Amino acid sequence: MTDLYGLTRPELNALVESWGFSPDHAASLWRHLYLGLASSLGDLREVPARVRSRLEAETRVGDLPVRLETASSDGFTRKFLLELADGARIETVLMRFTGRATACVSSQAGCAMGCVFCATGQMGFGRQLSAGEIVSQVVRAARVLLAAREPKRLRNVVFMGMGEPLHNYDAVMRAVDILRDPSGLALGAGRITLSTVGVVPGIRRMADEARPIHLAVSLHSADQEERALLVPAARRWPLDELMDACRHFCSALGRRIFFEWALIEGRNDTADHAHAVGRLIRGLPAHVNLIPLNPTAGYPGAPSRGEAARRFQRVLADDYGLPSTVRQRRGIDIGAGCGQLAAPA
Ligand code: SAH
Ligand code: SF4
Repeated sequence: MTDLYGLTRPELNALVESWGFSPDHAASLWRHLYLGLASSLGDLREVPARVRSRLEAETRVGDLPVRLETASSDGFTRKFLLELADGARIETVLMRFTGRATACVSSQAGCAMGCVFCATGQMGFGRQLSAGEIVSQVVRAARVLLAAREPKRLRNVVFMGMGEPLHNYDAVMRAVDILRDPSGLALGAGRITLSTVGVVPGIRRMADEARPIHLAVSLHSADQEERALLVPAARRWPLDELMDACRHFCSALGRRIFFEWALIEGRNDTADHAHAVGRLIRGLPAHVNLIPLNPTAGYPGAPSRGEAARRFQRVLADDYGLPSTVRQRRGIDIGAGCGQLAAPA
């Protein structure tokens, strides 16, 4: 059965019209899904019974039940363990900041890339998520905000949950199209960010297709051999090819790019490391996100201290003119930080 959360608006229109019904009914249904944040056809009353029965026979609303919900002690972060129709489990995180909220969504159950410091990588690959399963996570997050009568509406979506989004390109981009639809969730320009381990063909494809979302590339090391020890996918897509693809992205789209760097004490956080990354990305319109390492069961490294992070930032700024941000550590107590998502059974 077709998952209604997996259809773009033109596809939903086409489906309803192929049944011989008016496109007005598709519009009602779209509002029910994305303004009503529906979990079923439920109280969809605007459409006649014949349309409704056709929908009931041939489609489903792919709502993902919450199996566990945890809230961080500071109250800013909530993590949802969601169950997919086949029993697979994923995690979605809702982060609240003043005036805005961000949903961090998963693109796969597990991940095949095997980054050593990442809990998702440590669990291995489960399966790809469909576009509907991705969109449903965002609907879930929006519903939580609505129920809490939060004036802070969902403003941003980041593909930084479980999985490598460019290893599931088509489903992710279809989900992006659905999330951006101005008559639905309407996540406008600059509100969606995709983070990749560095899947070169995917980056090039995003550039060539002019995908209207931000790109963040997980670097962690400016040295091919060192990087491959942390990020095994670097053997398949070496650093020089990755940097070529990043330059292509920036020049083709005239846009800046984000680089992510998990700061691991003594491993990649010295002034020398900062100089190396500065030399590597100098000249690109780049912003660096520094993420002090979050703890995971399978990796012994420690997060850099505040002063190492500040030194790293100073080198980037003073010597290379590169802006950077140290990511706020949120949700670590509930395992909802970057790289901590693992979806326990
Ligand atoms: N697969 C994508 C997106 C998910 S991970 C990617 O790798 O980019 C989101 C970010 O968290 C990535 O930059 C990733 O490298 C980083 N990360 C993974 N494990 C981490 C950890 N233990 N501590 C801090 N950051 C981590
Ligand atoms: Fe996969 Fe990203 Fe984790 Fe690497 S950091 S294992 S690519 S989810």
